[in-house]
Amino acid sequence: VGVFYRPLDKIAAVIETYPKGIAGFRRYQDLLATQPDIADRPGAIEPVALEGDIRFSGVGFGYAKGRPVVAGVDLTIAPGETVAFVGPSGAGKTTLLSLLPRFYEVDSGAISIDGIDIREMTLAGLRRQIGIVQQDVFLFAGTIRENIAYGRLDATEAEISEAARRARLDAMIADLPAGLDTVVGERGVKLSGGQKQRLAIARIFLKNPPILILDEATSALDTETEQAIQASLSELARGRTTLVIAHRLATIRHAHRIVVVTEDGIAEQGRHEDLVHAGGPYQALHEAQVSPLRLSLGAAE
Ligand code: ATP
Repeated sequence: VGVFYRPLDKIAAVIETYPKGIAGFRRYQDLLATQPDIADRPGAIEPVALEGDIRFSGVGFGYAKGRPVVAGVDLTIAPGETVAFVGPSGAGKTTLLSLLPRFYEVDSGAISIDGIDIREMTLAGLRRQIGIVQQDVFLFAGTIRENIAYGRLDATEAEISEAARRARLDAMIADLPAGLDTVVGERGVKLSGGQKQRLAIARIFLKNPPILILDEATSALDTETEQAIQASLSELARGRTTLVIAHRLATIRHAHRIVVVTEDGIAEQGRHEDLVHAGGPYQALHEAQVSPLRLSLGAAE
C-alpha cells in the first residue's frame, strides 16, 4: 500500500525542477501530465517574503468524487513552528501536505499563507515559498554544482558554496578531483543515500524558502548518517515553518507540535508529553512501537 501513490514525490519533482529550460524539467512535466493542470487565476499575485503563517480552514479533498481522503481539516501553524504529522499508513498525511503547494486543489475550504488564499497566488510564486526534502532525491545527469543550483538558477558561485557548506557537503566535495564540477549520476560519481540527502538539503538552503515539507525516510540510512542528516535537517528547519511527515521518534519528540492524523481526520494534537498518556491514538501508536527507536505507524515493517 502507499508505494504506488507518493504524491509528495511528484510535488517535489514539480518544485525542485521548477526552473524552466532545464532538460529534466520536461521529462518530469511528461511524468506529471496525468495530473490536471492548475492554472493561475487572472490577476494572481506573486507572493514575496512570506513569513509562513499557514491556515487550513475546513479543508476537504478526495482523489475520487464522493470519496474524501481529507475532510473538514482546521489547522493553524505559526511561522517558524515545526509540526510533525503522524498516523497510520494511508490516513492521508501525504495527501494533506500535498495540498499546500497546490499539487491538488482543495474540494472545499481554503488554505492560506500569511492570510492570502493560496489559490490567489501564482503557482510558481507559491512553490518558490516551499522546499521539500524526501526520501528519494531527484538528481539529474550533470555536475554537483548544477544539481545544487537546480532550485535557483541565478545563484552565484559563493551562494552555491555556502549552501554546500551548510548542508555539510563541503568535505566530500573537497575530496573530489573536480570538486563542484564533478559529474554525478549514471555517467559520473555515484552518491550515497546520505550524500543525496545532503544535496537535497543544499538545494533548499540555496532556495531559502520560508516553508519546508519533510517527508521523512522510513528506512535505510545507517544510524550515524541518519543522525548527521537529522542535524542538518534541524538546522534547515530553523526559522522556517516546517511540516514533517514523521516516522522517527526523535523528530516527533522534538517537534513543537504533533498532529495525529487518522482516517477520520485530525484525531488529536499536542506535544509528545501531553499525548503519550492521553489515552488516544497517539498513545496507542507509541505503545505499539516495534523497537526503541521507531514507532510503528502502520507501515509495513
Ligand atoms: P503513508 O504514511 O503510507 O505515506 P499517508 O497517511 O501519507 O500514508 P496518503 O498517502 O495521503 O496517506 O493516502 C491517503 C489515501 O489516499 C490512501 O487511501 C491512498 O491509497 C489514497 N491515495 C493517495 N494518493 C493517491 C492518488 N494519487 N490517487 C488516488 N488515491 C490516492
